Amino acid sequence: MKRYSVFAVAREALRYHSGWERAWASPEPKKKYDVIIIGAGGHGLATAYYLGKNFGITNVAIIEKGWLGGGNTGRNTTIIRSNYLQDPSAAIYEKARSLYETMSQDLNYNVMYSPRGVMMLAQTQHEIRGYQRTAHANALQGVKTEFIGPERVKELVPIINISGPRYPVLGALWQDRAGTARHDAVAWGYARACSDMGMDVIQKCEVTAIRREGGKVVGVTTTRGDIDCNKLGVVVAGHTGVVADMAGFRLPIESVALQALVSEPIKPCMDVVVMANTVHGYMSQSDKGEMVIGGGADGYNNYTQRGSFHHIEETVRALVETFPMISRLKMLRQWGGIVDMTGDRSPIISKTPVENVFINCGWGTGGFKAIPGSGWAMAELIAKGEPGPLAEEFSMWRFREGKFIDESVAAGVAH
Ligand SMILES: Cc1cc2nc3c(=O)[nH]c(=O)nc-3n(C[C@H](O)[C@H](O)[C@H](O)COP(=O)(O)OP(=O)(O)OC[C@H]3O[C@@H](n4cnc5c(N)ncnc54)[C@H](O)[C@@H]3O)c2cc1C
Repeated sequence: MKRYSVFAVAREALRYHSGWERAWASPEPKKKYDVIIIGAGGHGLATAYYLGKNFGITNVAIIEKGWLGGGNTGRNTTIIRSNYLQDPSAAIYEKARSLYETMSQDLNYNVMYSPRGVMMLAQTQHEIRGYQRTAHANALQGVKTEFIGPERVKELVPIINISGPRYPVLGALWQDRAGTARHDAVAWGYARACSDMGMDVIQKCEVTAIRREGGKVVGVTTTRGDIDCNKLGVVVAGHTGVVADMAGFRLPIESVALQALVSEPIKPCMDVVVMANTVHGYMSQSDKGEMVIGGGADGYNNYTQRGSFHHIEETVRALVETFPMISRLKMLRQWGGIVDMTGDRSPIISKTPVENVFINCGWGTGGFKAIPGSGWAMAELIAKGEPGPLAEEFSMWRFREGKFIDESVAAGVAH
């Protein structure tokens, strides 16, 4: 595959852009692969990429029922941070954040990683204590964060109202190398790199059954026929329960809608990401100028990928006190994605009761930031058949054993 470079752009500019090739191939499925990954979201594609890059396994198909990144990967609000409380979480999210730093160069694809800084506002005494605790934990984990006072918050975000009547801003947990990236580009960049390694990215192909013999996976049935495999990775986020059911086991996962919206584009006014978890809202400004706004997940199970008026009203109402200027903005569009939530708000990267079926799910409202770290860990699990250091605490059996990795503070509303 031809490399993208400044010289390529100049060359194509001179010949009316007639020489670009397709970024990835659209092959017909083969009869058999060493590894099949179900789900071409960021996590599935990153898993395939690191299987090839780190383990030289390239006889791989990534099977997607819709289109590349059409699930949560293309629907999120793109926040990347690693300021989690528990050690296993900080390790995998920080691994992911550090891989984002060089992802554009690794993939030869501009994912527009913007380490603009993320702050989580403390608007109650309880939050001050909670975030100070996280800052101390992060210091021990080697994750650079700090607790800052309200004056510094105002300096970083001039449009914020720090003396709101209900919830004044009392400080914030600040991570300066956290930020955002272009979410579609992450999926497209991985897909292009996978295709370049000879892997098959197969879109519009739904897996409808998982075929097993003697407790071991032998292949999948899809809307385009049966495909055999030696190993199977299930990376389907909100549809995890449905696909696990096909393999004959159950998981402690709930599927709920998470919604977001963007405003009309306006002039640059905020160059960091701000989360206000007490009032249930967060906001950043996209490169196009839109204010990107999100809130908490819906309170009921659902598989419908769309927004609802009452939720938008609640989220915007929550943010208007802290950002009075948004009350004058027009909203452009809203949408929803189906997120896969575990009880402890931490993911599952695990072997399963079916031999050679591996599962990666439970990223809930916050898995975009984890994509490269998760793919790295899942590739190791599939290649070696056992979890490596990044994944070993995230087994599905931790719920039976009571070894929860409680991230409800870091991941309840914050994404
Ligand atoms: C509104 C919203 C805001 C968010 N904001 C953030 C944020 O700011 N920061 C952050 O870190 N995270 C955020 N998230 C969460 C993040 O988007 C997800 O955790 C992450 O994208 C999950 O990626 P994935 O690859 O696991 O899933 P997905 O991208 O959903 O990919 C799974 C794929 O599997 C496919 N699939 C399902 N069933 C089948 C089948 N039977 N056969 C074949 N294919 C199948 C689906 O079509 C889908 O494309 C947000 C999510 C939403 C919805």
